[in-house]
Amino acid sequence: MLKTGAEHLKSLRDGRVVYIGGEKVGDVTTHPAFRNAARSMAAIYDLKAADAAYSFEEKGERFSAYFLRAKTREDLAKRMKLHRAIADLSHGLLGRSPDHVSSFVTGMAMNPMVFGKYADNLTRYYEHMRHEDVYGVYAVIPPQAARNPEFYVRQNLPIPTLRVVREDDDGVVISGMKMLATGAVFANEIWIGNLIPLAPNQLPESITCAIAVNAPGVTLWSRKPFELHAQNEFDNPLAWRFDESDSMVMCENVKVPWERVFVHNDAVLARDIYIKTPGHCYGNHQSNVRFHSKMQLIVGLASKIAQASGAHEVPAVREVLGRFSALEAALGGMIAGQIQDAEDWPRGYKTFNRRYMYAALNWCTESHSQIIDALRELCGGGIFQMPADITVMHDTKLKEQFETYWQTPQLGAVERMKLYKLAWDLIGSEFAGRHLQYEKFYAGASFIVRNHNFREAPWDSYHKVVEDLMASYDVPTAKGARKIA
Ligand SMILES: Cc1cc2nc3c(=O)[nH]c(=O)nc-3n(C[C@H](O)[C@H](O)[C@H](O)COP(=O)(O)OP(=O)(O)OC[C@H]3O[C@@H](n4cnc5c(N)ncnc54)[C@H](O)[C@@H]3O)c2cc1C
Repeated sequence: MLKTGAEHLKSLRDGRVVYIGGEKVGDVTTHPAFRNAARSMAAIYDLKAADAAYSFEEKGERFSAYFLRAKTREDLAKRMKLHRAIADLSHGLLGRSPDHVSSFVTGMAMNPMVFGKYADNLTRYYEHMRHEDVYGVYAVIPPQAARNPEFYVRQNLPIPTLRVVREDDDGVVISGMKMLATGAVFANEIWIGNLIPLAPNQLPESITCAIAVNAPGVTLWSRKPFELHAQNEFDNPLAWRFDESDSMVMCENVKVPWERVFVHNDAVLARDIYIKTPGHCYGNHQSNVRFHSKMQLIVGLASKIAQASGAHEVPAVREVLGRFSALEAALGGMIAGQIQDAEDWPRGYKTFNRRYMYAALNWCTESHSQIIDALRELCGGGIFQMPADITVMHDTKLKEQFETYWQTPQLGAVERMKLYKLAWDLIGSEFAGRHLQYEKFYAGASFIVRNHNFREAPWDSYHKVVEDLMASYDVPTAKGARKIA
């Protein structure tokens, strides 16, 4: 089934418990901290429902294209086009849009046998997600507070990280925290798991399962919502619409029925399910496409800012713009290559080229801060020449002065202010600062991302290149050694 935006918004009015500090949020679709972002998420559902190119049919039912288990390059391209259309709606500023975790689960459903005795659970969960057009997010990292369990044990305190505390006939009971469920406020379900390796004895923590956001005992602890503090759309155009939220997930004796359990009491399998299936690859291909969309906004803004100040004619500035454009095109090439050199894996299916996907992931993680810094340099002090906010236009005398003195040969005063306010929300506001952190950490710290690249590298073939070259010449004998004149 394909949900509409209105249906998705309705599904969020389900009694979920969300806290902003000490405030308990009633309805996330109307609360001033979340209502605009909720509408941005809903727009994704309307986009998919409006165009048959963004869905596929199986056994008489239509499903979102991000649930497609690709068998051909064309299938991969179909997936990519929907990721692109979704990313373009927010210019890549909604990282955990509904196509991210769905892609993980779809990739897993292409190789469910990895899940052992829970394989059927995983397949049925995939079918449930696509049938209900579920928006899933995930919390797959232990909280930083959980790194020293002995501290809690010594003091007879509960260990903060989420774990199974009881097994019943009808399921497991989980308690504890997981970080950091981006988008959970706007989602229907949360995938709980472990993307980083566990120690062999961390069996209760190995639980991998899906829970409804409104399940009894689940509370979301939101970080500061930037939408709440955005004065108006003109002054904070990005925070106003695209603050996707990040929440700690707190579970207090949450019952998970057995059919929603995917890994239990298996520390190795808890991590393997992501990399021994196309799950991690399908999910992070979405991240690559999403970043590419953001790059296009960044390059466009860089050029517009340079034009606004007239600096775009300066050769040194053209060179900077040329570099921006090269970076954007390089990422585009890395994404296209993932389809061009797709892998025949697992049996009967196609997967985006994993090495190219991880290379792009590493490139994005490493480059984002530098790219934003380069855009900052282009902005100069222009941002701080602007009045505090657009209410300057409400006073007749100030308005006249502003329009007269703040215009440039290239742009009127209000258009300039609009441009600089947009740029600031991408490079300097609190919303922008959160994005700097997001791009560094959403796929794990940089050493984790590089570890994926290390794992997938064909070391034997690299070594062979060196060995073949070395085998092509001999160790010189005393007689054969070249004489130095
Ligand atoms: C905005 C944002 C959104 C997020 N959204 C999600 C989400 O939707 N779902 C989810 O599950 N998670 C999410 N995360 C969490 C993210 O996955 C983690 O932040 C990430 O895995 C890093 O873990 P950490 O924050 O505990 O940092 P740490 O692991 O504590 O790392 C902190 C620093 O120490 C360094 N460090 C730590 N250990 C080592 C080591 N062994 N070797 C070398 N360096 C080391 C790291 O490189 C890093 O610089 C999000 C994070 C952010 C910031």
